Amino acid sequence: MDPKKISHPAIVELDGAYWFQEKSEESFPGQRFCLEVDEILHHSHSEFQDILIFKSKTFGNVLVLNGIIQCTEKDEFAYQELITHTAIMSHEKPSNVLVIGGGDCGVVRELVKHLDRGVDTITMVEIDDMVIKLSAQYLPHMAKFHDHPRVNIVIDDGFKFLRENKSKFDVIITDSSDPEGPAEEFFRTSYFELLSNALSPNGVVIMQSSENVWLNIDKLKELVSSSRHVFENVKYCQCYMPSYTSGQLGLIVATHNTSLNLTQPLRTFAADEEKKLFQYYSASVHQAAFVLPRWAADINEVDT
Ligand code: SAM
Repeated sequence: MDPKKISHPAIVELDGAYWFQEKSEESFPGQRFCLEVDEILHHSHSEFQDILIFKSKTFGNVLVLNGIIQCTEKDEFAYQELITHTAIMSHEKPSNVLVIGGGDCGVVRELVKHLDRGVDTITMVEIDDMVIKLSAQYLPHMAKFHDHPRVNIVIDDGFKFLRENKSKFDVIITDSSDPEGPAEEFFRTSYFELLSNALSPNGVVIMQSSENVWLNIDKLKELVSSSRHVFENVKYCQCYMPSYTSGQLGLIVATHNTSLNLTQPLRTFAADEEKKLFQYYSASVHQAAFVLPRWAADINEVDT
């Protein structure tokens, strides 16, 4: 390793090695998550955010926006599969799907699996085209369908798109970055209202919840509660993600359809097909993701 190559404010030298450290005094004070760095592949400031991509020793290539890990090649599939298939398999016929954010294109990769299996159109609205271009270069397995002929990629602010949009979507997946930077507004009731306006009857929305159940359970409950101001049927589910804060990430799933049981897939694949398609998701994982440990179970019971 050439030490001259490893120079970045979030990378420190420790015990003769270089470590990327993720820190946030606001979201996770008193703790830092570190990954050993092999090589910095890219660092720049786009119009919207600081972008760092490095090759790690054990997690493959890592995308970092504004100092926060967005994905690593080792564990990205857990998040991408749960956020995509939980929503898609909860809908009877998810013809038109919208992704807000999602610049690494991992969700698009998962949605392509459903083309001609219920999904007809895929639209992704990402604010920062640099994230897409760099993901195509450094995270090719994730971004392999960034130029798929049936994927419509729109470079725009997700809020502006939703305010101006006239189409209705059956599933809307918010694959945003954390509330620091251009994604702050995603975690407010006004955003749930925009989603609601763009949703077809019986449509399903899903979003990453950003807050960690171990660290910020009260904030998480506030988020679930504000989504319940807009949607009648809201559930929280979670996945294991070693590279996200404290190893866990939660998703909020919501619909106006009160008779829909979001915790059960409405449609399932045959076992051999499921094995071919997925590494993390299965019909059983779908159900299990909503089962919370006793101390956290009331997240799914909070009132508005
Ligand atoms: N899976 C990741 C996570 O949970 O950390 C998120 C991945 S994806 C890279 C997040 C994307 O949201 C980024 O590419 C960012 O540019 C995009 N984004 C942030 N604010 C946005 C906005 N207002 N409109 C559209 N995309 C936005």
